[in-house]
Amino acid sequence: MINLDQNATTPVADEVLAELVRCTREYDGNSSSGHSIGVKAGSFLDECRKRVARALNAKLPSEIVFTSGGTESDNTAVEGIAYAMQQAGRGNHLITSAIEHRAVLAPCEFLTKHGFELTVLPVNEVGCVRFEDVQKALRPTTILVSVMLANNEIGTIQPISEISRLARARGICVHTDAVQAVGKLPVDVQALGVHALSLSAHKFYGPKGVGVLYLQQGTPFTPFMLGGTHEHNYRAGTVAVPQIGALAKALEYAEGKRQKYGAELRRLRDLLISLVLEKVPGSHVNGDVKHCTPNTASIRFDGVYGGHLLRKLDTLGVLASAGSACMWERTKPSHVLTALGLTDEQGGGTLRFSLGYDNSEAEIREVANILARVVPEMRRNPPAEVSPPLARASH
Ligand code: PLP
Repeated sequence: MINLDQNATTPVADEVLAELVRCTREYDGNSSSGHSIGVKAGSFLDECRKRVARALNAKLPSEIVFTSGGTESDNTAVEGIAYAMQQAGRGNHLITSAIEHRAVLAPCEFLTKHGFELTVLPVNEVGCVRFEDVQKALRPTTILVSVMLANNEIGTIQPISEISRLARARGICVHTDAVQAVGKLPVDVQALGVHALSLSAHKFYGPKGVGVLYLQQGTPFTPFMLGGTHEHNYRAGTVAVPQIGALAKALEYAEGKRQKYGAELRRLRDLLISLVLEKVPGSHVNGDVKHCTPNTASIRFDGVYGGHLLRKLDTLGVLASAGSACMWERTKPSHVLTALGLTDEQGGGTLRFSLGYDNSEAEIREVANILARVVPEMRRNPPAEVSPPLARASH
């Protein structure tokens, strides 16, 4: 298989898998237990927390909270900060963007049913939040701005440090979903100036089911998961020490790859784009590749339904995605493509290609050749099973 769907998930790197196995054998105790096996697991957890803090340039290891992944980190950040700020009498207004992952949008929408107000910022035609729109949206009651660092579908990078400066000057908290950034962009919490930041190990060559919530010391926060005193009372539940060991390893692995091979990743992505645009007439790039994660290309094909193309590519050994992975079965274009101003036809004809460090130039050339053959064929003979494809989308 040629895996160009690595924003959905990355393969676990060999050395990360070895670390997962080692940690499962060596640190199998409950890190809260007072006996020797528990203390051993607890000390290793402390060491991992320090390593993750160092990798993210957090000031303190205690600012790192381990979670079950990106969705939990996002939900916890949004709700935990919103409720704490509201209880402190600071207001009830939240700001987010139209291209956030559902893991941020859904808790924001949930809060509007519980006394909060929400502004959803639009994006420009290449998928960037406009700084002036953030300025205009601020109110005396604004308590939280949550805007992602890099988008999962089109890869555009958002102006987080500018937003943080603006918000901090008014005592407003800032959260960023950086799930798609690790291994592709530098992730430095102090340079970004955020109060909270979410990560998920399976997006950077680690295992599924483990993530990080960075929470700057002193950030108002009401815990979401209640129970024991784990994770400095921020997240109850027996701590997944072996998975955290693998996450720490994966974070270092992905950052090492980025530093060594980030430019090559971008070169391959750019090569894919130029070959496709050259070989497939009626293909276009969505978003702004210059201001985008180096591995992501969102390409739309006139007169083709993305769902059909994806299935065809799958049978030919190529993995890609339409919109985000969790939305594979959807017939309506994703909210991200719609927010860019694309029509149903344009959004419906879009595929996301997301590369990883294991892809080669030969693979990229092969995918471009396959598309050059398959797209015109599909235009001439559209598959019959969903016809007309977008008729379903309008229901
Ligand atoms: N945020 C973004 C930007 C994502 O791409 C994803 C996963 O697709 C998530 C959050 C959710 O992360 P997880 O799969 O770890 O729950």
